[in-house]
Amino acid sequence: MKIKNLRDLFIHELRDLLSAEKQLLKALPKMAKAATNEELKESFETHLRQTEEHVERLEQVFEGLDISSRSEKCAAMEGLIEEAQKLLKEEMPPEIRDAALIAAAQRVEHYEIAAYGSARTFAEVLDADEAMDLLEQTLEEEKETDVKLTELAEEVVNVEAQQVGEEEAESESARD
Ligand code: FE
Ligand code: FE
Repeated sequence: MKIKNLRDLFIHELRDLLSAEKQLLKALPKMAKAATNEELKESFETHLRQTEEHVERLEQVFEGLDISSRSEKCAAMEGLIEEAQKLLKEEMPPEIRDAALIAAAQRVEHYEIAAYGSARTFAEVLDADEAMDLLEQTLEEEKETDVKLTELAEEVVNVEAQQVGEEEAESESARD
């Protein structure tokens, strides 16, 4: 697609986002399955349901702008997911795996926050009020998800992950 003006760039960004969200729809169930901590599992499941809404909102944006809701492959999301999958193939204790899952998930959320932030601003400049409103709603959910993941990491997951090494060190020194 030829990009001649800001509206074209806006449409390009929306198509990239649609691809990113659709890729996530496939990745999130796998992340939920890989998680051991119940809260983390639930947070992935909740975000999967939200992600379904994110796709719907993007489709509403396309409809409101009277353009086809095509996606353009988001190579960044593909890379983020690929990297996460590669890491998760490694053998590691479940507590460490949970910490790795959060680190991967937060990369994804930050990408989405950046993309939705730009798209929302383009919508604002282009006076596309309905689109701006829809993009803003999703942006807020991505931010909330990121905050929730940080809390979960700081309060539970990283604490448990840190104890994995400790127990080993203790039993080793007990053997000495
Ligand atoms: Fe999303
Ligand atoms: Fe998200």
